[in-house]
Amino acid sequence: MKCKECGADLRWESDFDFENVGYKGKGIVSYYNCDSCDLLHESVIDFTINLQILRIVEVEEEEC
Ligand SMILES: [Zn+2]
Repeated sequence: MKCKECGADLRWESDFDFENVGYKGKGIVSYYNCDSCDLLHESVIDFTINLQILRIVEVEEEEC
């Protein structure tokens, strides 16, 4: 998969079942990171409606 921002190849980080991340239905959420622009992407594969999407995860800055 390619980065939605810069088009570089994404590096796989981790996979989770829907139930692990609190999503409804059955599916897999995978996280990919772009080494080029350091954006985290979330790939959502929903088995119940047969849908796959890829989106950029907005990472909130942690406040001290
Ligand atoms: Zn990128």
